[in-house]
Amino acid sequence: MQALVYTAPNQLILEERPTPKPAAGEALIRIHYAGICGTDMAIVHGAHPRARPPLIPGHEFAGEIVEINTGDSRTDLRVGQRVALFPLLWCGKCRACRAGDPHVCRTLRLIGIDRDGGFAEYAAIPLDHLVGLPADCDYRRGALLEPLAVGVHAVEMAGAAPSDFTVVLGAGPIGIMTCQALRQAGCDNFILSDINPLRLARARAMHLPTLPLDQLEEHVVQASDGEGADLVLECAGAPPAIMQTTTLLRPRGKAVIVSVHKQHPPVDLRSLNFKEITMIGARVYTRANFDSACAALADLDADRVISHNLPLAEGARALTLCEDRSADTCKVLLNMEECS
Ligand SMILES: [Zn+2]
Ligand SMILES: [Zn+2]
Repeated sequence: MQALVYTAPNQLILEERPTPKPAAGEALIRIHYAGICGTDMAIVHGAHPRARPPLIPGHEFAGEIVEINTGDSRTDLRVGQRVALFPLLWCGKCRACRAGDPHVCRTLRLIGIDRDGGFAEYAAIPLDHLVGLPADCDYRRGALLEPLAVGVHAVEMAGAAPSDFTVVLGAGPIGIMTCQALRQAGCDNFILSDINPLRLARARAMHLPTLPLDQLEEHVVQASDGEGADLVLECAGAPPAIMQTTTLLRPRGKAVIVSVHKQHPPVDLRSLNFKEITMIGARVYTRANFDSACAALADLDADRVISHNLPLAEGARALTLCEDRSADTCKVLLNMEECS
């Protein structure tokens, strides 16, 4: 099979690899589409703290079960079924795992980061890491399930209520997925902001309420009678966004930090005191978030979320595209449907 392999920092090479054999309790998946995310870029640049070459990245993918090696496990999955990956690997022993929160396991690992993932024609995946896609869901849409689950988790962590006035910072794929999850939760009183006009135009085309960042503060003041927003969901990842978060919130408002910041951005702790702001972190998603995301997938404007769809062989170019701030990109997918 063909696979994109991270072989050394800044090297993502198309290689011929043996098709994996599913071990007991695994299924062989013929992958159709895999999404590229910020984590994959960090991996390929050699900047991910855990990923080690040689590695096939890719933790956002959808494909078809072509073989099942049930072993001792029981499964409702069947050959021919469309599935997406649930990539989390946890220890089952640490305090978080015992408390039923394996997504914040002390030693959380992911398929596609800590072991081979989906930038390939095939992958052998443990059965309990496969999620059956809704019958009407095609593979392109299915590849969006994982980032949509990130949005669902962010909204859950926020405890968003329909009456809340919410600001979403950052109109990249995760910001858009978070807006979709807000809608799914009946929280329609939100505004999405970004400095990038291309991203805002794409979001507007998806009928999301948007504002350029330089108009946001004034709008929030007016729309809230001078009080501030109830919730800010920070999906921008840019250092200034953290300061904006505390500026925009009302007293006792809540911030959820969804993006993973590469540096340590300045934080206005004084606002945190004086407004008694709650600032909470969000990491990946739970299995229940995946099920909610499955239900929300049908309403997602996949044709607009997916800005590019490139063959596996053009993986290196796809990554460059993701990083080009002047390009009109959102989610970039790799497709394996044209492989030999
Ligand atoms: Zn991702
Ligand atoms: Zn654990």
